[in-house]
Amino acid sequence: AEQSLRHAQKMEAIGQLTGGVAHDFNNLLMVVCGGVNLLERTNDTAQRARILSGMRDAAARGEALTRQLLAFSRRTALTPEPIDLPSLLEGMRILIAGALRGDIVIDIKMAPDLWPVLTDPTQLNLVILNLAVNARDAMPDGGTLTIAATNATLEGSNRFALAGEFVRLEVRDTGVGIPPEILDRVFEPFFTTKEIGKGTGLGLSQVYGFAKQSGGHAEICSREGDGTSVILYLPRGEAVAQDNAQTQLSRSEEKG
Ligand code: ADP
Repeated sequence: AEQSLRHAQKMEAIGQLTGGVAHDFNNLLMVVCGGVNLLERTNDTAQRARILSGMRDAAARGEALTRQLLAFSRRTALTPEPIDLPSLLEGMRILIAGALRGDIVIDIKMAPDLWPVLTDPTQLNLVILNLAVNARDAMPDGGTLTIAATNATLEGSNRFALAGEFVRLEVRDTGVGIPPEILDRVFEPFFTTKEIGKGTGLGLSQVYGFAKQSGGHAEICSREGDGTSVILYLPRGEAVAQDNAQTQLSRSEEKG
């Protein structure tokens, strides 16, 4: 009975989401169409620039919205390969900085002799970017985004019953934190506290799904006023071939 209740709740959530997304998307398209009409009617350079920038913002938000939805619905099978995290992150630096604001410091702390991780590099890129964007939103007055990784041998006696060799990847911010009463809901799909058009509530559920599908685990710790930390355990991979590390670097650079 509990399962069918959950199912019903999920279906309701999906119905709400579809309606919500259609609504958001419609609003964004209205901005673009309205902009085209206005552009046809004015020759004023300053006004045209303002309209164009509004249209660009709306289009970018629409793009982000559909990209997140696609990533969520596709649930693509992962193509795992051994990844050298320090090179992956080094290659992503510009991309991450671009997603943040100037008042946020990026601190990357990689343990020496860090093991490679075995997962899908494209998905890992998206997940890190997702977490960076959440951190940015949580630090309206600036702060520090720390991305840290260490080797972790787990005995299986931990609360998530994971045993084996993992890399513990932590993405931490010095932001507003999460109130305890909603902390255990943030991994749920469609759960968001952000205003319409800004949040889909799919980011963290995607992060969780990614960690689980990789054979690892994800958890979140947060204290209001102190900040939030998302911790991923990703399985250890074989040593990365040198040319492989190079490809990862140039691949992330291309994306940035
Ligand atoms: P979205 O960012 O689209 O709202 P997420 O699934 O990524 O969806 O996050 C769900 C909710 O969890 C957010 O709306 C926010 O309330 C909270 N949250 C996520 N990351 C953080 C963070 N780093 N700091 C504070 N709150 C966060």
